Amino acid sequence: MTSPNFIPSTKPLPFELHPSSIQGQGAFAIRRIRKGTRIIEYLGERITQAEADVRYDDESMARHHTFLFNLDKRTVLDAGTIHNEARYINHSCAPNCEALIEKGHIYIYALTSIEPGEELVYDYGYERTEDMGPEAEALYVCRCGAPNCRGTILAPAKKAPARKSSAKKAKTSSTSRKKSVSKSRGNKGAGVKKAAGKKSSAGTRKSTQRRAKSPSRKRAS
Ligand SMILES: [Zn+2]
Repeated sequence: MTSPNFIPSTKPLPFELHPSSIQGQGAFAIRRIRKGTRIIEYLGERITQAEADVRYDDESMARHHTFLFNLDKRTVLDAGTIHNEARYINHSCAPNCEALIEKGHIYIYALTSIEPGEELVYDYGYERTEDMGPEAEALYVCRCGAPNCRGTILAPAKKAPARKSSAKKAKTSSTSRKKSVSKSRGNKGAGVKKAAGKKSSAGTRKSTQRRAKSPSRKRAS
């Protein structure tokens, strides 16, 4: 944190950083945080998806470790360079926080009421593609320790296998709409595949091998 790229929050934060049993440093509440509270902005260097592909190649890492966060189809925040305390908030499959996009910024909000001493966590929900098997899950292993831990920080696998039927299903179920949005990245639904296909078409296999965190959803305001 002595890095010149560390830009500490100017406001007093409701958490402090300690070693975490999940990974590295974690963010722990120092006072009660009410559900719905905007806790901190996730700061990062704004780069293009293409630039992120150049910087990071998941295939060359034994365990995935980047601080990328998808803002939208074109833009990624890289907290591997410029960052604040938000970078240290760990992933959990049983989150008490969520990341929301608001007017081009990513903020971490309290999803539940959080008691002092509790670690702040949100679901990173890394994009999963059809070709991702056990190997990918191992690269994105999760050790959050939650009873419902899915074992990976990749977003949960989608139930419907066929593309066409999944699209139909998503439309027929109104409750699933909110859900699918919450798991999608800035580029959502079928668009993901298209966009990914475009970008990664032909040679650039890399872009399909690089994953970034995804916001839960966009905040309507
Ligand atoms: Zn987990």
